[in-house]
Parts: sequence; structure tokens; C-alpha cells
Amino acid sequence: MAVSNLEELEKIMPLSEDEKKWREIGPSLSMLISDHILSIIDKNDPADPIRREFVPTRFENIGSGESIDPLMEVEHSRTERLIHRYSNRAALLVTSRCFAYCRHCFRRRFTSNDDGKISKEEIREASNYLKEHREIREVLLTGGDMFTLSDDEIDYLLRELKSAREDIIYRLCTRAFLSAPERFTPSLLAIIKRHMHGAPFLLMCQFNHPRELTEKAVKAVSSFIDMGIPAFNQAVLLEGVNDSVDVQEELSYALLYNRIKPYYLFQGDLVDGTAHLRCSLRKGLEIEKDLRKRVSGVAMPQYTIDLPEGGGKVVLTENYVLGLKDGMWQIKSPFQGKRDYPEKDESV
Ligand code: SF4
Repeated sequence: MAVSNLEELEKIMPLSEDEKKWREIGPSLSMLISDHILSIIDKNDPADPIRREFVPTRFENIGSGESIDPLMEVEHSRTERLIHRYSNRAALLVTSRCFAYCRHCFRRRFTSNDDGKISKEEIREASNYLKEHREIREVLLTGGDMFTLSDDEIDYLLRELKSAREDIIYRLCTRAFLSAPERFTPSLLAIIKRHMHGAPFLLMCQFNHPRELTEKAVKAVSSFIDMGIPAFNQAVLLEGVNDSVDVQEELSYALLYNRIKPYYLFQGDLVDGTAHLRCSLRKGLEIEKDLRKRVSGVAMPQYTIDLPEGGGKVVLTENYVLGLKDGMWQIKSPFQGKRDYPEKDESV
């Protein structure tokens, strides 16, 4: 049984004072921890990385005046549920529900609120918008977690979207591999398979720590990959969870061994109530620099920031290009010293 309040949680594991005091703070993201997550939390260690991701603490109350919508998604909403911020892609918020609520959730203005599932009318509105905006090539099906919808609802949603625009790449965004791997039943997979025509689906996972790649989670992801759907991971850099190069290296290779491409490592967004889980940018850059030396290019995620006020995504990395001098580029080696590389002589 999933746990949705501290009283229930306290019956399962001893809570720290910081966790108990979450009760006393003002409105915050709801608490919901699924069975599968509970099974991998270390119940005797308040610093357990998985526990930090899901058990709320009093620190969510640190009102820093940060935004509840730093990416300005509300301003870029074009229908009730469709956010169109970049010209070639959009995000469709198909539900506000998840199987478990991550304490670092950047969309906490919406996640777990009363909006619930997308209605048929809202699907129609979004489909019409996609038909009119041919510049959109990719749509993220997100929320919330799309797999909290029933099989029939997912079937209807995919049928409507595919009939509106079969040429769009739909990204299936989910954390359910960690929070509810049992959700991926043969009947659900058969529905996904039925809609695999036109442009491909892409599977977008969020594994933040190597321990999250449990046997059940990996088996569920594999069932998508075996159907021909490529899987990518979008991790979030979180203090006390994965803010070390050792953990990142282990995560990258655990993903790759299971055929999941480490795609993004996100710097935490400036969302009110999440500052205690955010890693400093200085530390993030150090981790990125060291990780690049330890893993191959294919195992390396892009350390990326989604700039405040809807400024867009920027890949963060050490500045290797020192400058151009007398026709020679001076480029820092990730290992030692620098090297020269000539600028092309355009007359040749
Ligand atoms: S699964 Fe995604 S949308 Fe749901 S709480 Fe976690 S980060 Fe937020």
C-alpha cells in the first residue's frame, strides 16, 4: 500500500525530527510514496538517497521567494494543458497525478493538485492546436505521470494524438519504472505497440541514483526497448542523492548496461521549497568535469540548466576553448595542459 501521510509512514519506519516537522509547515507538495519505493528506502538511515527524494522534511518550508513556475510554463500555455515554449516542441500535461511525489519536482505548482486527468475536450483542444502548428515536431506527454491514466485512457489519448499528427515524435515521460514497475502489464504494452506507427515514440525516464535501477524497473524499461522504443535518462542533480562523481559514474554505466542512454543531468530549477535538495552550480561543474574524464562520450549525460524566466536550456561544461591567437586555437585538454589547433585557411 502506498503511504500518503506521516502517521502511516511512522508505523513503517522511524522518522527524523526534520521529517516529523514537515507537518508544521505551510502548503507543500502532497506526500505519496509507493510500495516499490518503500521497498528500496533504507528505513534506518535518514540520509538515505532514495529517502531524501521522497520523504518530505521541514526544509521544504524555506520560503526563499523563489518561483513556483521558474520556467514560465503558465505564460507559455496555449491550451488548458499544452505548453508551447520552444517552436519545434511542446509539452502536454496529461495528468497532475504521479505514483509517488518527488520532493524536488519542478512542476509542483501542478503536480498533485486537483486538476487531475486531461478531459476528452482538452485532448481535442490540444490535437487541434497541433494540427494548426506544423512547426511542432515533438510533444512530451507528461504531467504528472502519464502512466497513472488507465489503459483505456492511454489508448484514447494516443489514438487522438496520432490521428491529429502521426508525424510528431511523442515522448513518453515517466518515473513509473521506479515508482510502479508493476504498471507495465502486457495489456498496457499491447496498447503502446498498437500506436507505434508514424513517427517513433521515445521513452524518457528519470533515474537519479543507481539503486533505483532495480530488477523490476529494468525489466519494465526493457519491455519498451524490446518493442523498438529507445530509452533516455533525464537525471536531476540532487544534494545528498547523487552529488558525487562516483555515484554519477555508477549511474551512467548502470543505465548504459541496461540500454538506457544517459541524456541529461539537470541542474535543479529555482522552485520554491526545493533549495535544500539543490546542488550548487560550482559543485555541479566540478562533477561534470571529473565525470567527463571517467566515462566515455556515450555514457556522458549533458549537464544542463533550464534558465530562469523561461530563458531556455544551456549545456554547462568547463570552458575548454581558451581563444584564437595568430591563427591557432588554444584548447585546454581535459587531462593536462593545452593544445593548439589551427583555424582553417579558407584560401585552401
Ligand atoms: S514523477 Fe515527475 S512530475 Fe511526478 S513528482 Fe516526480 S518529478 Fe514531479
